[in-house]
Amino acid sequence: MRLYDNLIAETLKAIADSGNVRSFPVRGNAWKCNASSEFIMARDAALELGGSGEPSVNYTCPTTSGKVGKDEILICGRDINEIKGDTAFARIVLLETEDLGEDTDSERAFRAIRELDFVRYHVFPKGYMVRVSAQSNQEQVRISRDALNAGMDFERIGAAYAAKYKAVNLVKHVRIIFITDRKLVEALRPNADKVDSITKTLTHILDGLPTDCGHCSMKSVCDEVDGMRELHLGKSKN
Ligand code: SF4
Repeated sequence: MRLYDNLIAETLKAIADSGNVRSFPVRGNAWKCNASSEFIMARDAALELGGSGEPSVNYTCPTTSGKVGKDEILICGRDINEIKGDTAFARIVLLETEDLGEDTDSERAFRAIRELDFVRYHVFPKGYMVRVSAQSNQEQVRISRDALNAGMDFERIGAAYAAKYKAVNLVKHVRIIFITDRKLVEALRPNADKVDSITKTLTHILDGLPTDCGHCSMKSVCDEVDGMRELHLGKSKN
């Protein structure tokens, strides 16, 4: 699985170029999580990330090519305890996985993609309410006053996400990236749409899309993404 590799490279480059990044190893200090989502009332909120008209981006890129390389939490911009008022927000996840088997076993690949997607919606840190809009690739977060006073930070939230991803057998390494630098959030926004197009095209291919490039609505994706056309045409020969 190398379809997302250009986007992974672009994301890491943009973050490095921002000159405003802190890196943490993934340690066993995950913020305590609830079993299910928690509703935080506006009157109990200390901070809103990615809401109130601020830009917000969320995407996940899996790869098997070694580009992720290690477990890491990255923070670009202000950490939770440094934020004053509403702020832009992005959470990006880069995953190094075992081979998803998309060339040989569509069912297995489908299950793997669903399992990885499941994680995104099933991490519930205490005092950290997530509202996801899958359609617009946005993620908004409301942080409670109690959580802020108890010392919540992105390193510990990231460790909670990392633990959940690492619990999936397929996942070898994970980098969880939090961004509150407005310029960087806006710069990375187009990547979320590209990730979406790749994932949709891949899903259609695994679902048995006919190999007719001349009449295919996915052509623009295949023209841009290295390996997508080879994957589909190679798969049809198998
Ligand atoms: S290889 Fe051709 S048929 Fe297959 S998804 Fe790409 S454009 Fe469509």
